[in-house]
Amino acid sequence: MAERFRIGRVFLAGDAAHVHPPTGGQGMNTGILDAYNLGWKLAGQTLLDSYETERRTVAAAVLKVSDYLLRLYAPGHAEAHQRG
Ligand SMILES: Cc1cc2nc3c(=O)[nH]c(=O)nc-3n(C[C@H](O)[C@H](O)[C@H](O)COP(=O)(O)OP(=O)(O)OC[C@H]3O[C@@H](n4cnc5c(N)ncnc54)[C@H](O)[C@@H]3O)c2cc1C
Repeated sequence: MAERFRIGRVFLAGDAAHVHPPTGGQGMNTGILDAYNLGWKLAGQTLLDSYETERRTVAAAVLKVSDYLLRLYAPGHAEAHQRG
């Protein structure tokens, strides 16, 4: 995950901001919601400040799950293929 999602007028979204291991399978979903979150905020400077806070929180949560599944997958645990 990138250390910053925003520096000034430059924003990172999608895989540029957070790359998921194959056990995640949620990179597209997360990236689309980055763009949705950012898109409607482009109308106001104040709202833009919340983009990084909101989307880094989500990306960290999703990566935590996919990283956990990757650690199960590597040594061959069957639970790595289960989804809640
Ligand atoms: C096998 C596989 C299965 C997947 N399955 C799922 C799934 O089931 N669900 C899910 O949510 N996600 C899935 N993903 C993840 C998903 O595909 C990615 O998270 C998503 O495509 C990322 O989109 P993006 O637009 O951020 O980046 P990308 O799709 O990588 O788009 C970046 C674009 O920028 C272009 N580019 C790069 N450098 C430059 C440059 N210098 N100038 C101009 N253009 C440039 C590239 O050519 C590319 O077109 C899967 C990924 C893989 C590999």
